[in-house]
Amino acid sequence: NTFQELNLIASVQKALVEENYKIPTPIQAQTIPAALEGRDVLGCAQTGTGKTAALALPILNQLGKNSRKSIPHHPLALVLAPTRELAIQIGDSFDAYGRHLKLRSVLIYGGVGQGNQVRALKRGAHILVATPGRLLDLMNQGHIKLNQLEVFVLDEADRMLDMGFLPDLKRIISQLPKQRQSLFFSATLAPKITELAHSLLDNPITVNV
Ligand code: AMP
Repeated sequence: NTFQELNLIASVQKALVEENYKIPTPIQAQTIPAALEGRDVLGCAQTGTGKTAALALPILNQLGKNSRKSIPHHPLALVLAPTRELAIQIGDSFDAYGRHLKLRSVLIYGGVGQGNQVRALKRGAHILVATPGRLLDLMNQGHIKLNQLEVFVLDEADRMLDMGFLPDLKRIISQLPKQRQSLFFSATLAPKITELAHSLLDNPITVNV
């Protein structure tokens, strides 16, 4: 099993060679092929298993293979993370694996002023990485619309619920287009998590590593 066999576009493969990634981790090997086919994914995986690349590579592949002339005003892919630290790490991963693609990603999180984030959003984005509270604030102010979304990702869903984000998540989810791909990752699959997953996912492949 190598990354070549996953048939990722050349510019993504090139970045993986530069990152010195040779073999997909189990979560990557089991979710990336299905995600590339457009399937929904329910992945049960801890930090350190390579789940960030598992969610980022299919998105970069999908958005990167359709050459797009201009930056969309509203995101085509949204990744929600529970904390600023995780959001930053995910944003860094998109930048690294997407370095040979002309895709713009924007990162938004709470606890800092909104000005820079609003200015960044005004230039448009293919990919938005966000924490739920700040996303909702900026949606309510009209800076972000999710009606162009093609892919929705919820990362560390269990931590989001532990942190009390369920009401925010429900408001965000109510704005998602019905026609979309969804990827859902959680370290645990307690009943509340599974319930949320099944409200979001359509016939997902389920992977437990
Ligand atoms: P994550 O679980 O997404 O936080 O990733 C854990 C660490 O593994 C990160 O430092 C990644 O850069 C690294 N990593 C992810 N996938 C691979 C891979 N296929 N080969 C080598 N390193 C990887």
